[in-house]
Amino acid sequence: MATTHVKRAFKYRFHPTDAQAAELSRTFGCVRKVYNMALQARTEAWTLRQERVDYNRTSAMLTAWKKTEELAYLCEVSSVPLQQALRHLQGAFSNFWQKRAKYPTFKSRKKSRKSAEYTSSAFRFRNGRLTLAKMDQPLDIVWSRPLPEGAAPSTVTVSQDGAGRWFVSILCDDRPTMAKPVNAAVGIDVGITSLVALSTGEKITNPRHERRDRGRLATAQRVLARKAKGSANRGKARTKVARIQAGIADRRRDFLHKLTTRLVRENQTIVIEDLMVRNMLKNRKLARAISDAGWSELRVMLEYKCAWYGRELITVDRWFPSSKLCSACGTIAASMPLNVRTWTCGCGTTHDRDVNAAKNILAAGLAVSACGDGVRPQRSAPGGRSSVKQEVVPPQRRRAAAQPRG
Ligand SMILES: [Zn+2]
Repeated sequence: MATTHVKRAFKYRFHPTDAQAAELSRTFGCVRKVYNMALQARTEAWTLRQERVDYNRTSAMLTAWKKTEELAYLCEVSSVPLQQALRHLQGAFSNFWQKRAKYPTFKSRKKSRKSAEYTSSAFRFRNGRLTLAKMDQPLDIVWSRPLPEGAAPSTVTVSQDGAGRWFVSILCDDRPTMAKPVNAAVGIDVGITSLVALSTGEKITNPRHERRDRGRLATAQRVLARKAKGSANRGKARTKVARIQAGIADRRRDFLHKLTTRLVRENQTIVIEDLMVRNMLKNRKLARAISDAGWSELRVMLEYKCAWYGRELITVDRWFPSSKLCSACGTIAASMPLNVRTWTCGCGTTHDRDVNAAKNILAAGLAVSACGDGVRPQRSAPGGRSSVKQEVVPPQRRRAAAQPRG
């Protein structure tokens, strides 16, 4: 197993709440102020007294500045980004002394990059959620690519570009860990009554808290609707709704993380359907099940965890008639309305609808996987996807390939 440690930065967009944006803007301002004051102090000390002021001296100055009335506002933000600004200035001076860079310049409000660096004492990273000091909610990060499984971020840098877009760069130890190969494969079907059904016969239901959370959310939304626009109570009610929504998203993500980690650990090959969630949401009955399940989130997690652990994720065509096909004899049923939970094929086999679909998905994926190099799907890359084209669906299944699954 590979155990090389490499520091690697992962950068993502994120969407701060109004409170977070205000906190970060304040922090950027304080970082700039501290950097500029320390630069001025160091420059004066050198030009007037030929005296070198080091990082420790500027750190002591910062403590003194915070005690003055006019700079007391520096205490309102996390002290860590301010200390980091002094370290950056130290680095800029080192580069100057070693003739690698010009003399450090002041940061300008308009032209300089707005950023703040947090070391591990100033953030919490748990279950894929990143919460910065002075904030009570995690950042809403767009996880466009995976953070290494089990990554322990050491430094987090938040920045805002000229277009007002927010970014977070997460520095962590990157240790690719190929999991021990296992001799098992699983097909996964998106359930209607369950979250997912596995080809092993197991059905995984939505976590129990979903229903309770949903009730609390509906109540909070009704309260919000009754509050007068612009009133203080409306603001409070809106915050409450947002907190409940964030809590729901957090708990769902935790649940999906546990589920996908388990699936990837237990199986060498995982086969899923290439569902077009947007299309499926047009179907009212399926819509609730799928949006509840967070299918696309589950899929993204499977993609990067498979890549991370050296597992194979195979995607079968979304028009593959997984529900109508008897996994025992290969007969395709004429129709399979959504309300049919179990059915008995002409061959005498009684199927749970979703488990049967999962078995078919697994068989289709393995058939494709066994076809050889020509059509073998690529192991999915982080954030990427492997795909299986319709042409490689076995002939007896091609007949119904133009029919949407149902
Ligand atoms: Zn049959």
